[in-house]
Amino acid sequence: MLYRKMPKNGDNLSILGFGCMRLPVKSDGSIDEDRATKQVRYAIDNGVNYVDTAWPYHMGASEPFLGRALLEGYREKVKVSTKLPSWLIESREDMDKFLNAQLEKLQTDHIDYYLIHYLVGDLWDKLEKLNIADFIEKAKKEDRIKNIGFSFHGTGTDFKRIVDAYPWDFCQIQYNFLDEKNQAGTEGLEYAASKGLGVVIMEPLRGGNLTKPIPQAVRDLWNQAPVQRTPAEWAFRWIWNHPEVTVVLSGMNDERHVQENLHVASEATPHSLTETELQLVQGVAAKYRELMKVGCTGCRYCLPCPSGVNIPLCFEVYNNKYLNNNADEAKFYYAVRLSGAVTNGEPELASQCVQCGQCVEKCPQQIDIPTMLQSVEEELGGPDLDNRIKMAKQVFKQM
Ligand code: SF4
Ligand code: SF4
Repeated sequence: MLYRKMPKNGDNLSILGFGCMRLPVKSDGSIDEDRATKQVRYAIDNGVNYVDTAWPYHMGASEPFLGRALLEGYREKVKVSTKLPSWLIESREDMDKFLNAQLEKLQTDHIDYYLIHYLVGDLWDKLEKLNIADFIEKAKKEDRIKNIGFSFHGTGTDFKRIVDAYPWDFCQIQYNFLDEKNQAGTEGLEYAASKGLGVVIMEPLRGGNLTKPIPQAVRDLWNQAPVQRTPAEWAFRWIWNHPEVTVVLSGMNDERHVQENLHVASEATPHSLTETELQLVQGVAAKYRELMKVGCTGCRYCLPCPSGVNIPLCFEVYNNKYLNNNADEAKFYYAVRLSGAVTNGEPELASQCVQCGQCVEKCPQQIDIPTMLQSVEEELGGPDLDNRIKMAKQVFKQM
């Protein structure tokens, strides 16, 4: 196992972290605790020392599971990371209420790496008003949390604003070779690192999309590689090639994945990919974009839309429908991510487009944005959207 230093405190963290969001499950959907415990402990026995969970994972069952999995001496061998469910916070008291409940669920007296979960611009503004700074300082002083960070899925501009708004120890961003210009992106990664923050990476395989049945055209490209590697190994090596990255989380749920990831994490040093290999990965990224319904790179040049449509996010969810071949999942995430219902933000739906055309000439990919948004609305909107929004609210409230 290779290790990298957390810049602000010098912790030597394994470059591979165990993510407890997609643990193995039984036929009834509950965590297969026996198998998951063995996987977590096997990873720790082989050098992993960073384990990540969150309040909503596995409908609230991930944290208590991890608490049990880390009994018998394993808690002392790892840094535990979990997250404050920002969308459920209505008062200053709520912050302590959730943290204390998490300490109990995890059977520990402190969280090593605590994150404000799913922080986007609107939520940060709300939490600031509720005096989250006081909560963080007090929780740190009382040693209930050791390091503070935030996990992020918003815009590049908001990312920099949030990085600068508080003396964070670390942050967690979605990053992989398809998201170089999406969300925080490479620019955000480099910005956070330049400010002395450790950077934990989530979604290295884009929710598994980069390893799910690989389209033949992509497979053909991978086959041209001078050294043959699995798509997962390419994806991980590409991320670890960046020296700004501290830990990469992998939601492992299969013994083979654990072994493969451990193996790659013992070799993937910064700047270890050759120019030819980097070009190959760029070629694969380009091929994926070509296969997607909309060739949106997430650059956001088209924003702001006067009607409030989140154009790149509409296209991201729409593309995922085709990449994952899963219409139901895409329709659910369309309601979760674009209705504003979960974050109490403004809706940013494709149906809000009034076809003014202002965005079209700003798009470097020359996408016919208004027409494509009509397709998004036809396939992901529709009369049952209100029901999906209600369901999304319920699911997130229960978590
Ligand atoms: S065409 Fe639609 S998406 Fe583009 S700026 Fe106008 S309202 Fe917004
Ligand atoms: S400008 Fe074009 S490529 Fe960039 S985010 Fe908007 S739609 Fe996507």
